[in-house]
Amino acid sequence: MHFRKLSEYFDKIENVSSRLEMTSILAELFKETPGEEIARVIYFSQGQLAPPYKSIEIGMGEKFVEDAIAKGSGYTKKEVHEKFKQIGDLGNVAEEFLKKKKQESLFSTELTIGKIFENLLKIAKTSGSGSQGLKTKLLAELLNNASPVEARYIVRIPLGKLRLGVGDPTIMDAFAINLSEEAKSNKKLVAEVEKQLKEKNEEKRKQELDRKIRVRVREIIEDKYNIHSDLGVIAETLITKGLKGLEKIHIKPGIPIRPTLAERLPSSKEIIKKLGKCGVEAKYDGFRLAVHKNEKEVTIFSRRQENVTEMFPELIEAVRTQIKAKGAIFEGEALAFNEETKEYYPFQITIQRKRKYGIKEMAEEFPLTLFCFDLLYVDGENLMPLPFKERREKLKSIIGRGKRIALTDSIVTDDPKKVDEYFNENIESGLEGIIAKDLNAPYIAGARKFSWIKLKRSYKGELSDTVDTVIIGFFKGKGHRTQFGLGALLTAVYDEKDGMFRSIAKIGTGMKEDDLKELHKILSKISEDNKPKNVDSEIKPDFWVSPKYVVEAIADEITKSPIHTAGRGKGKEGFALRFPRMVKLRQDKTPEQATTVLEIEKMFKNQKNVKLSE
Ligand code: ATP
Repeated sequence: MHFRKLSEYFDKIENVSSRLEMTSILAELFKETPGEEIARVIYFSQGQLAPPYKSIEIGMGEKFVEDAIAKGSGYTKKEVHEKFKQIGDLGNVAEEFLKKKKQESLFSTELTIGKIFENLLKIAKTSGSGSQGLKTKLLAELLNNASPVEARYIVRIPLGKLRLGVGDPTIMDAFAINLSEEAKSNKKLVAEVEKQLKEKNEEKRKQELDRKIRVRVREIIEDKYNIHSDLGVIAETLITKGLKGLEKIHIKPGIPIRPTLAERLPSSKEIIKKLGKCGVEAKYDGFRLAVHKNEKEVTIFSRRQENVTEMFPELIEAVRTQIKAKGAIFEGEALAFNEETKEYYPFQITIQRKRKYGIKEMAEEFPLTLFCFDLLYVDGENLMPLPFKERREKLKSIIGRGKRIALTDSIVTDDPKKVDEYFNENIESGLEGIIAKDLNAPYIAGARKFSWIKLKRSYKGELSDTVDTVIIGFFKGKGHRTQFGLGALLTAVYDEKDGMFRSIAKIGTGMKEDDLKELHKILSKISEDNKPKNVDSEIKPDFWVSPKYVVEAIADEITKSPIHTAGRGKGKEGFALRFPRMVKLRQDKTPEQATTVLEIEKMFKNQKNVKLSE
């Protein structure tokens, strides 16, 4: 496939505003893409070269991209820079200059997706002294042969500013459209769906059937993606082998599984009412890590599925010596633990272990302990469908003696009073609260379900849980804050329904001066003049930013709001955070892992329940 064709599709996507239109353009693109190229098309459409867990960052600074545009278009660096200052998007600068150049020379080789991929991969893998020159050369070579619209995207990918707004949900929706026909020939699936139909009128019933089949296909795709976090592989299977082909994809050490997540309930009484006799565990405040062991090879993934293996040498060593199984996938929370005083260090100490340099020294000073809470796979067997109590037994049986790997502390009870006592004990020893677990539930990857329910410390007059919001814009500082360039953040929560980020709070407190400076530094790199396509907000900040950074915020309560768009519907007002304060940046979460609109609705209801019962 030629990159020109893909660029034309990208251009179409960029020019539509509704998600529905975007999905149908993607569906068309996927129909035209051959199996051997679909994975790259998927990665490109999200501005990547590989699934996030492979941690391949192309990362080229603006300065070097400007140089490459100059080389590839024949204009001077100064001209490129001036134009950039004027129009603010290097992709558009490249496009404009190449338009002019193309009138003069019409001879160029057609760029294939393979060639673009090859050069961008080389750019990503080149490092060390003199590497910038080589990177610039590789990009210029592409631009030299590019058409203007191709140049727009060739430049935006290494800058990490593709601006298409294509998220995982849209890609899966597009495949669901394309595979619905195949699903209709699957008698079992159709019979299952027919049972749920409500319409009586024949025509409407047919439409309902079509819609429900599409929803079912989408679920089948997502279920697979949840246990095999590589949309490229999923897409390739769908194109070459159809929906049925997915049955052959199984969990495998080395490929991350999307984490199961906890629901919230306001009290231990409600937790017991919901779960009955359940496991109750300490809620540790550290990093959630997923450990994959395959013989001697050990890989560790973060909450957002980055490969963080290199950061935790002491845990790697411990997995090799303490874990008795040859192959295993298990999860735990890692935190710095003071052996002498038998106390947990605060999160501020643990977070320092997230670093690229000085790893060995820090591992010696503040070694982590991994408190394990689930086992998903052991020696060729997928344990995810088993009831939690069985998984926990097996987990216990594979952890051998040693200091660095332990089982989470837990009790089993059906008495709310015992839950409260246990909760208080944990708070006293410096932990965050508790997580109750349904003893009979399977491991539900990628979903927030009642198989886990968290209960955290509640401060008087405050929400009992923090909200993870996504930064969608910022305001210039006023008065004393003018000097920092940033005075407040506009933040949003994630709407899973359609992949949009909807506004919920303007946060202007909780940040220290250093935070303001740091936020300004990272946000101005990704600021935009126009509202990003996946953002829904009526409040207009001084600068928009595309959803990337997650900020944990605490607030007094959730209120109804006429100005915020989170949760807004026909005749329904949105939600806002009342007196929001920033707690910290949550580097361990992707924007899609932030709090969702649905969670806000539930938290709003929970908060009413608490008030009524007081
Ligand atoms: P939070 O900000 O409350 O940690 P979250 O959105 O990161 O929430 P949730 O699924 O809502 O994740 O809450 C569960 C989180 O608690 C897990 O992601 C994990 O990092 C952490 N955790 C700490 N102790 C445990 C435990 N014993 N069992 C499961 N998760 C635990």
